Amino acid sequence: MTTAKLLFTPGPLTTSATVKAAMLRDAGSRDRDFLETVREIRERLLALGGAEPNAAGEYECVLMQGSGTFAIESVISSAIPREGRLLVLVNGAYGRRIAQMARVHGIEIETAEAPENRQFSPEAVAERLTASRSITHVAVIHCETTTGILNPIQAIGAAVERAGAAYIVDAMSSFGAIPLDLAAAHIDFLISSANKCIEGVPGFGFVLARRARLLEAKGRARTLSLDLYAQWAGFESDGQFRFTPPTHTLLAFRQALVELEAEGGVAGRAARYSTNHAVLMRGMAELGLEAYLAPEDQSYIITAFRYPEHAQFRFEDFYGRLSELGFIIYPGKLTSAPCFRIGTIGRLSPSDIDALLVGIRRVLQEMGVAPGIRAVHFSGAGGCASAQ
Ligand SMILES: *Cc1c(COP(=O)(O)O)cnc(C)c1O
Repeated sequence: MTTAKLLFTPGPLTTSATVKAAMLRDAGSRDRDFLETVREIRERLLALGGAEPNAAGEYECVLMQGSGTFAIESVISSAIPREGRLLVLVNGAYGRRIAQMARVHGIEIETAEAPENRQFSPEAVAERLTASRSITHVAVIHCETTTGILNPIQAIGAAVERAGAAYIVDAMSSFGAIPLDLAAAHIDFLISSANKCIEGVPGFGFVLARRARLLEAKGRARTLSLDLYAQWAGFESDGQFRFTPPTHTLLAFRQALVELEAEGGVAGRAARYSTNHAVLMRGMAELGLEAYLAPEDQSYIITAFRYPEHAQFRFEDFYGRLSELGFIIYPGKLTSAPCFRIGTIGRLSPSDIDALLVGIRRVLQEMGVAPGIRAVHFSGAGGCASAQ
């Protein structure tokens, strides 16, 4: 067996031994115990979004097999009617992915683009909705994992609600780690997955949907397997997934939810991730490595760092040497600047971040890059040109 490595990535993430151990049994997908696990997971997820998990509640939880993208696609392909029109707010790769998804399904879309290092302005969204009255749905990314930037979803949600449109939020990399109230943020559909900040293993995504909007989705689906309404109706009728559920992943996820609660819920997790991030930022600054975003735009989820400006720096070499030391970092996904990324989420503690920083220092020295690092800046780079 190869030795365990720590994942400083946007997911899948490092998980606890107890979460992994929860998978060491087989569960019958129609067995009473397993159905109770599914029911409990759906309830706990609603509670994490501040929604009442009972019949009087305004929100419903739908679990969907697959990675996070499948759950997003189930919303995009199920919620928007044939005569609908989707506005996608794009300031990174995940926004672009939603636009691409809508095109595949032949959904009428518009995009509003902001630079990768700028949060979306709620005022700009409001203006766009006034100018283009045929928009029925708006989709935005909460934490755009491309850079780690946070979009102001609550203020944008208020603008979307005023315009009478439905509001779709990809909170994949923030849910469970950044406090959020579904109703206060005017959210109709929120999407996240098992293997991000709730610290489960990959295998399913979930949608927290306003019940009225979910009921409207009946008969709108463009696929059979990703039909969000039908999936929900299945859970409501017999508590089951329509097709084979990722049983082991669900067992692990239930344990992950218990551990989230034991940590003090979202607030407790936010505190640990914030400390992780603060330790990382301090250490990277000491090494001369520069973050891509301005501090006020940066979340504590994941951080993009500019490549050091040095002939000897090659990302593949840097990555490989860190991996050999047991640290998995993440390549960049930016169109505007060469960056690599470091996630501060998952079962990681500040001492793990310290260990990573020691590793980075050693690797940069071995590569002949440190000391005296300067970051790469292209002229006009940083995506500062306003495209909004
Ligand atoms: C991780 C992530 C996704 C989903 O990615 P999958 O690889 O399909 O799990 C979607 N949006 C954001 C913002 C993400 O961070």
